[in-house]
Amino acid sequence: MRIVFAASEMYPFAKTGGLADVAGALPKALVALGHEVKVILPRFRSIDPSLFSMETIDEFEVMIGQQRHRVEIKAHEMAPRLKVYFVEHPGFFDRESLYSDGSGDYPDNDQRFICFSKAVPEILRRLEYQPDVIHCHDWQTGLIPAYLKCTYQKQGLFEKCRTIFTVHNLAYQGNFPLDTFPLTGFGWEEFTLHRMEFYGKVSFLKAGLVYSDVLTTVSPNYAHEIQTEEFGSGMDGILRERALDLYGIVNGIDVKEWDPQTDQALAANYGASTMIRKKPVNKAFLQKENDLEVNPKIPVIGMVTRLVEQKGIDTVAAILEPLEKARIQLVLLGSGSSRYQSLFTKIAGQYTGHFSFHLKYDEKLSRRIYAGSDFFLMPSLFEPCGLGQMIALRYGALPIVRSVGGLADTVTDYHQDSESGNGFVYEGSTAQDLLGAIDRAVQVFGDKKLWTALQKNAMKCDFSWKVSAEKYIELYKHARRKTALR
Ligand code: ADP
Repeated sequence: MRIVFAASEMYPFAKTGGLADVAGALPKALVALGHEVKVILPRFRSIDPSLFSMETIDEFEVMIGQQRHRVEIKAHEMAPRLKVYFVEHPGFFDRESLYSDGSGDYPDNDQRFICFSKAVPEILRRLEYQPDVIHCHDWQTGLIPAYLKCTYQKQGLFEKCRTIFTVHNLAYQGNFPLDTFPLTGFGWEEFTLHRMEFYGKVSFLKAGLVYSDVLTTVSPNYAHEIQTEEFGSGMDGILRERALDLYGIVNGIDVKEWDPQTDQALAANYGASTMIRKKPVNKAFLQKENDLEVNPKIPVIGMVTRLVEQKGIDTVAAILEPLEKARIQLVLLGSGSSRYQSLFTKIAGQYTGHFSFHLKYDEKLSRRIYAGSDFFLMPSLFEPCGLGQMIALRYGALPIVRSVGGLADTVTDYHQDSESGNGFVYEGSTAQDLLGAIDRAVQVFGDKKLWTALQKNAMKCDFSWKVSAEKYIELYKHARRKTALR
């Protein structure tokens, strides 16, 4: 198939979160299955043309309201059948960060992504390229399906092409004031409750949800949750209307990148068969480097996370004392909101010897935590997919997770399913609920034989991108069979 990806992030070019990992890995997995993929990205400052061979292939004007904006298109061949195109507009994209600076979101984010979204189909038209599907990601690309439906397909262009829109996190919506609407170039008939209007604002995310032929999100459970008021961030109504077109496909992880058998950051490498002997070496190393008592019998919980409310950080602060009393060690690596950063910096000293806090982003340390921990904690309030728990499973650290989003799809609670259990899943959102799950987990930890069986279950899980890519291909084919949405 001929697949076009439109995204605002793609590893290794530009990254703020999980979207970049998906846009970096999924195209490669699709190419490996024999398909052709073109990815279109804004040319942000982080994408240094001297590091990647790029050639300018086109130049044209994009109208934003009454203003003409010149864009230059650069192309980079990443691999056979995998080409990346960059939309260059220095005024919009040559900035320190992708979407915001210290004082908040860039005030012209509407214009920046109108420009990008208009450029995407225009590049394809000028290349005379007929994709089978255009796969758009998150609000930054939400207008693309609308331009395709309302402009191009009405002119008889890209009539067979279908659009897929993936929501990576519904909390980010790209909602702009009414004044933005005339800048998009759409007629006012598109500004209604059933189209792009969202409580008097223009919502780029809603445009993606309304005009795309097929919608996806990053786990089946999150696909259900976002149709409810609790998790729907105001978009649950439109998502319920589109329930039959909404699918959940779990993200993969790069299994070469995250492999305890070859990971250079570990004190000792191991696979499922050597785990019993070698994982304890990593645990002892982790305990030592964190000034914790080196003792294989003391359970170690690891946590690697952004320090933001979504991740259930408040419950973590609330369990430090009970953990200390129960002689359970916790290693937390994270950075994020200043509120949590100062909270943990302040209280860490009270729990020395049981709690070790690292305020930074440190991939190598994160690897040692995955390898050295017995458990991996994710008490998230919501979690579209989550990567941490998948990496932890691969490294034989059993996840203790709240039953939300992708966590519930990827972790099987041992007490619900003793055969294939690979971790501990709990309901509820209080510190007591979390402590209940930790208590259950620690009891299993005490039974060596059972514990090892669970670790083996964990390490057996296949989270490779191939599995997800095959599901996306099925969905693209399904979208192709659908009559285009009008
Ligand atoms: P989200 O994308 O919402 O932050 P995920 O669980 O999907 O959460 O992905 C988080 C990824 O970022 C994991 O690979 C995790 O190891 C990594 N990560 C998060 N915080 C840190 C940190 N402080 N240092 C190193 N890696 C981190």
